[in-house]
Parts: sequence; structure tokens; C-alpha cells
Amino acid sequence: MPKKGLDPWGSEGIADYGRAFAEFGLEKFPDAWCQKLKHRLFERKIVLAHRGFDEVMKCITAKKPFINMTGIASSGPLHLGHKVDLDLFAFFKSLGARNYFAVCDIDAYVSRPDRSMPSLSAAKEFAVENAAHALALGLAENDIYVQGRKEQRYYEFTFELSKKITKNMFEAVYGHLDLGKVSANLLQYADIMHPQLKEYEGAMPSVTGIGLEQDPHAKVTRDIARRLPYRMKLPGFIYFAFQSGLHAGTKMSSSRPETAIFLSDPPNVAEKKLKNAFTGGRITLEEQKKLGGNPDICKVYEVLRYHHADSKRLAKIHSDCKSGKWLCTECKQFAAAFICGFLKTHQKKVAEKQKTARKIVHGK
Ligand code: SF4
Repeated sequence: MPKKGLDPWGSEGIADYGRAFAEFGLEKFPDAWCQKLKHRLFERKIVLAHRGFDEVMKCITAKKPFINMTGIASSGPLHLGHKVDLDLFAFFKSLGARNYFAVCDIDAYVSRPDRSMPSLSAAKEFAVENAAHALALGLAENDIYVQGRKEQRYYEFTFELSKKITKNMFEAVYGHLDLGKVSANLLQYADIMHPQLKEYEGAMPSVTGIGLEQDPHAKVTRDIARRLPYRMKLPGFIYFAFQSGLHAGTKMSSSRPETAIFLSDPPNVAEKKLKNAFTGGRITLEEQKKLGGNPDICKVYEVLRYHHADSKRLAKIHSDCKSGKWLCTECKQFAAAFICGFLKTHQKKVAEKQKTARKIVHGK
């Protein structure tokens, strides 16, 4: 039975990924796969580890279909950290996957206290907004579903799963028996596994991209999959390092807006946040020119590393920062111009996708 260790609902970042991987028995994502996949999130080691992704790699190599399943709880506005999930999803879609992107309205309401999510209808309003952003980032209408508007078979399957996890098992893994979170978990297991039912794609390798703190869900899902009365491949997972917050020692979080650049931030607001971000620069200009900066602890560099497409430019910024040739003022201007340009284009697309997003969530 999976053991308790990480809190999927917690707000703490992971301090030492290497140790966490060893402790939780994850496999390092091989360099050969990173090179083969040719995407910045793999090449830049943002995707760090996996469970069972080898089956999906076989499908990609043989140009066979596989299931691409990811979701987000519609609990607030999306930020750059969420964009990583969506970029990964869009990448697997481009490789010919069968796509299931869940906007989790029920989960967002039942697993959160009323003070942060007062009603199911509030979660559905965020779901419309989230779906519009997903569409603007390259997903199609039929790639996306909301938990509250699925077919009967999905809900039936969710209830079936409740027979496969006991009170003791849930408490041992998650450390509590909050009924809202229990319900949300059953839906999440169903989200990951239902595409393999015969009513959908049938047994097929699948991949779900998650942060390391979501690993308890992954382990329980695989454990349940082994015991279901259906022919099913064990769901595969890839683990990425979450983009951290813009201030030192923070996680990018919707509950602390100053730490996050939201996809709906007006460009001038995003620019201000970037300019106030923690950097790896020195105290004085002279010192930085002489000793160089430290891009590896710098939040401005992290934004570029996660989102800028040009790897050559990124490598040059890294080396010029370290040698003192490239300074924080020009670097922040560069990053702000990049992010503001992205936000302007993206927000225009989001406005155009509102009607489709509302249809996905409300059916009209
Ligand atoms: Fe960060 Fe850029 Fe300054 Fe280097 S030059 S410390 S990457 S802001």
C-alpha cells in the first residue's frame, strides 16, 4: 500500500528533488528520452522523473496512439506555473495522443474550504475562464471536459473505485478522512483511468504530468488500476519541477498574487512583478560586472527557462550573466518584453475563446 509522505494539497515547495526521488522510488527521466522528445521542458530538465512512461515512449517511437490525460482544479485564475501543464499537454497532443484535459469544477469546490471556494457555481465560473486559457494555448474543444458535465459511465466508474480504497488506506496515504477530499480523489482516479475503459479508448498506455507532491495520487491510482476488473495498462506519470514563486523561497501560488504572473495579468502588472522579482544579481553594479550573477537562483531567469522557446538565447543569457557581461536591468527588460508580448497575444485569443469555453462548461 502506498505510504504517506507528501501532501498533495500542501503549499510547500520541494527543497531537494534528488532526495525526494530516491525516497519515493521514482525513476529519473533518461537523457536519451529528453533528446528524443525535443521539447524545452524535457531538454531543460524541468521534467525530472517518471513512473511507467516507458510504455508511452514505445508508442511515441512506433507512432501509435497513447492517452494524454491531465487536469486542473478550477479554483482560481491560471498562472505561468499552470501554463507548464498546458504546454506539456499540447506537446503530447502534437505527437498524436488521444486527449483528455479535465477542468475539475467539482474537485475545486468539494476539496476546498468555503472561504476559498464558496459555491459550485463559483468553481464553474473559474472553469469557464480556465477552459478559455486552455483553448488559447492550443487545445481544441473536444480535448477538454469538465467533471460536472461527463457521461454517466464516468460517474458510475467513480463510484466503482470507492470499493477499491479503504478508510485505513486513505488515512495512511493522506493522513485524514476529509469527505470532500475523498470525493475529489475518487474523481481524480476516475479522470486518469476512465479513458482506458472500453466505452472510451480501451486499454492503452497513458501519461499524466504532475508535480512531485501529487505522487500519492499517482501511487494510489496505479495500485487501484492493478485491482480493477478491467483490462487496463498501469497509468504512467511524468513529474516536473514546479516553477517557483517570484520571491525568494516561495511557490508560484494563486493565494499569493505577488509571487505569480497570471495569464490574465495586464502586461504592465506582469512587468512590475518581474521587476520586483528576486534575482541572482550582486549588491552593486561594479561587483556584478566583476564577479558575475547567479542565474541558477534567479527568478527572472527561471521565468525564461520555463517559457522562452529559444534555447540558444537562454544559454547565452546564462553564460553572460555568470561572466558579468549581462546585467539585471537589461535582463529584466528582456524578460518583461517577452512576457508582455506573450500576454498580449494570449489574452486576445482568450477573449475569442470565451463562447466556446462557456459551451464546454455549461453546455450552451
Ligand atoms: Fe538574473 Fe538576469 Fe540578473 Fe542574471 S542578469 S541575475 S539571470 S536577472
